[in-house]
Amino acid sequence: MQVAERIKEVRSELPEGVTLCAVSKYHPIEAVKEAYDAGQRIFGESREQEVRLKWETLPQDIEWHFIGHLQTNKVKYIAPFISLIQSVDSERLLDEIQKQAAKNSRIIDVLLEVHIAQEESKSGFNPDELTQLLASVNIGQRWPNVNLKGIMAMATFTDDETQIRSEFRRLMSYYRQLLEGPLAQQGITAEQFAIRSFGMSEDYKIAIDEGSNMVRIGSHIFGEREY
Ligand SMILES: *Cc1c(COP(=O)(O)O)cnc(C)c1O
Repeated sequence: MQVAERIKEVRSELPEGVTLCAVSKYHPIEAVKEAYDAGQRIFGESREQEVRLKWETLPQDIEWHFIGHLQTNKVKYIAPFISLIQSVDSERLLDEIQKQAAKNSRIIDVLLEVHIAQEESKSGFNPDELTQLLASVNIGQRWPNVNLKGIMAMATFTDDETQIRSEFRRLMSYYRQLLEGPLAQQGITAEQFAIRSFGMSEDYKIAIDEGSNMVRIGSHIFGEREY
């Protein structure tokens, strides 16, 4: 099946209120253009140079989301144009995004990546540490050019649906805790902190079932990546 057909098929399956981030990392410009021509406008990328090149080459109404591990010294390359940084996993990174957003006179939308998988290799904030961080800083003062829009996570890479489902459930319960606790105290509402980005090619249906409202789908749309 071609990219355009896949995009249309996936989009038609998604319930209302669930946003598709088409993960185009490692795929050529032509593949992104095909998805664009099929109506897709949100794309996820995981390397600064690649997203920059695609941003420069492709139509300007595309929203580029950064979903990979982001080093602090690379924030400056994407700060001028990135629509959403989904993979914010440290206080230092928030500070750097603040700095680069201010330099570009922008407010940058971000998601906080939460570590829910059993694998050590997956990145993200430890939930307890994130709760503590959000409770201990004045968010609006410390990061005035950063807009906290929600959470992002990845489940363990496994065939065990029960495990994936329980990880997503824990994530949703943690999300509600954040909203009721440290975020409510700082005046951040569920409407502002509304994005729950979880679910990929293999598990997006489970994710939607469990409360995801943004799925990040790559290989199911674009085929296998070359690593
Ligand atoms: C690569 C990637 C995806 C897409 O994965 P697929 O299994 O190809 O759908 C989603 N989220 C993140 C963070 C990724 O790195």
